[in-house]
Amino acid sequence: MSYRGRLAPSPTGYLHLGHARTFWIAQERARARGGELVLRIEDLDRDRCRSEFCDAIIEDLRWLEFNWCEGPDVGGPHAPYVQSQRDYSSVWERLRAGGWIYPCTCSRRDVRNALVAPHEHAGVDAEPIYPGTCRPPAGKIADANSPAGVSWRFRVPDGETLGFCDGRLGEQKAVAGRDFGDFLVWRKDDIPAYQLAVVADDAAMQITEVVRGEDLLVSTFRQLLLYRALGFESPAFYHCELLTDENGQRLAKRNDALSVRTLCQRGLSPQAVANMMQTAV
Ligand code: GLU
Repeated sequence: MSYRGRLAPSPTGYLHLGHARTFWIAQERARARGGELVLRIEDLDRDRCRSEFCDAIIEDLRWLEFNWCEGPDVGGPHAPYVQSQRDYSSVWERLRAGGWIYPCTCSRRDVRNALVAPHEHAGVDAEPIYPGTCRPPAGKIADANSPAGVSWRFRVPDGETLGFCDGRLGEQKAVAGRDFGDFLVWRKDDIPAYQLAVVADDAAMQITEVVRGEDLLVSTFRQLLLYRALGFESPAFYHCELLTDENGQRLAKRNDALSVRTLCQRGLSPQAVANMMQTAV
């Protein structure tokens, strides 16, 4: 199978130099392998995503002369895939019918208050380990026709060591139930959670390598469990270093100083911004 990568921005703010650098690495890896890239807008989080950011990100990617090969059948050539227009219910149903997931009525606060801290190696995308309050006995298949109205969690195989070989970082390992716990696959407000949507899409779009920031390293282990449960072959992974600002803080969308838009408004040429993104570390 030939190489297929993806650019998967979330339109929660303007594109900043850190994302642009990750996308540039993704593009270089695709180019070196004679492959192609898909653009996918990850806009499922309705509270945080805005359509003007989506337009701005696409405009900035074009300004920086990024190329992607295809979009869905609607929207014209090179239109991106847009997660809010896609249907993830069949993937939820496969997980439910396989007994991999269960409904959970705990609030975020309940989980936070349970105070089960993830293991110190859990990394920057660590979240509190779910205490198992709603976890049913093993083998129980939840009865439901639709995911709506309640959250759904994936039951992780406690104590199992998971591993993969990262394209930049080499061998990576994590222990399910210690470094991360039962994670959300569907939200109470009837929106698929990031982990489920990204796996469903990367499989459907036949992505062969996922290039993204290393803040998502722990999520990769969660996603490996989803690939296994769904019987999908998992792609390869390459996690890029995160850029920091002059104070050593990770670049974030709320920090506008290094957004591609701000740099453009300050009169920098696309080539100058491209040089910054290529040389920044
Ligand atoms: N949409 C995510 C972000 O912008 C990236 C997700 C991924 O690459 O898997 O941070």
